[in-house]
Amino acid sequence: MSDFPPLRDELKGLEPYGAPQLSLDEAPVQLNVNENPYGPSPECVADIAASVAAAAGTLNRYPDREFGELRAALAAYLGKDTPHGIVPDQVWAANGSNEVMLQLLQAYAGPGRTALSFAPTYSMYPEYARDTNTEWVVGHREEDFSLDLDHAGTLIERHRPAVVLLPSPNNPTGTALPHDAIAALCEVMGDGLLVVDEAYGEFRRAGVPSAVELLPAHRNLVVTRTMSKAFALAGARLGYLAADPALVDGIRVVRLPYHLSAVTQAVALAALRHEKELLGRVDDLRAERDATVGWLREQGHRVADSDANFVLFGVFRDRRAVWQALLDRGVLVREVGPDGWLRVSIGTPEEMKSFRMALTQATEEKS
Ligand SMILES: *Cc1c(COP(=O)(O)O)cnc(C)c1O
Repeated sequence: MSDFPPLRDELKGLEPYGAPQLSLDEAPVQLNVNENPYGPSPECVADIAASVAAAAGTLNRYPDREFGELRAALAAYLGKDTPHGIVPDQVWAANGSNEVMLQLLQAYAGPGRTALSFAPTYSMYPEYARDTNTEWVVGHREEDFSLDLDHAGTLIERHRPAVVLLPSPNNPTGTALPHDAIAALCEVMGDGLLVVDEAYGEFRRAGVPSAVELLPAHRNLVVTRTMSKAFALAGARLGYLAADPALVDGIRVVRLPYHLSAVTQAVALAALRHEKELLGRVDDLRAERDATVGWLREQGHRVADSDANFVLFGVFRDRRAVWQALLDRGVLVREVGPDGWLRVSIGTPEEMKSFRMALTQATEEKS
């Protein structure tokens, strides 16, 4: 066997990350990557197009490397989640929050350092560690997918991780982290960073606060967000974080020059001007999620409580067969999480009706 191309040993034989991406013909009901099912209105599309046209006239020049206008707009948006407000120097952005977190590990982890999370959780985290030559340690979540603080504290004291990655709400389980858990973990971390990944933060249930509120109290806390989910802008690729300004400065050292294109900046700024519309369906999606949880439980499934725009349910003896039976009926969900579980993203009422019908038929067929 040829050893060409001479890939790094630890990458040999690995497949690139990603859910199956099928066409609308193959799978008309796409509920597998937690997208917002509602596209932008014609007014929003027109505003984005005009902003891109204005940016196009300047494309002979490199974009604003520090994306000052976008940072200010993101700070104003995030500041609404905290009585302390957020200043632009606390904000950083990149092409999706995946890139933001990779940059965090490039700056703050790497050889000789450790990153830690608790499974089941987002499957990209170990990839950031692998790609930055960071030692990867994974603890476990409880039966109900909550985090046991004693277990977390023990692992943190044993491994002294440079970075802990914790989504809240967690993907794929939907579990949110209580504030006192975040505060307690920040304390045990010492100088290590606690990254609370709030990709689904806007979907949290009433009364569940954002970790953004805790930033002034913990200089080692980082909160990441994305425009890909609630903001209905997955195609634009814009993720961001809020943290101590000194911590942001460290990321500026590792970022590639001009990593955020002028087009991306223009699109994100235009979308932020339409915040009210783009986030306007979040309440509908939350209600649809709660109804989906209720319906699945009525059918006798086990269902994880969810603060996100997806629901993890099971437990199937052969989840692959159920996944395939749903797909045979045009409904694409995600085969992810612990053995026997499936994850469904929350779509429009019509899409969820298709999901319910398909699942009813699929499970009747199986039993
Ligand atoms: C979807 C998701 C992200 C965000 O991805 P982008 O790169 O911003 O599109 C981050 N974290 C988790 C846990 C996610 O599920």
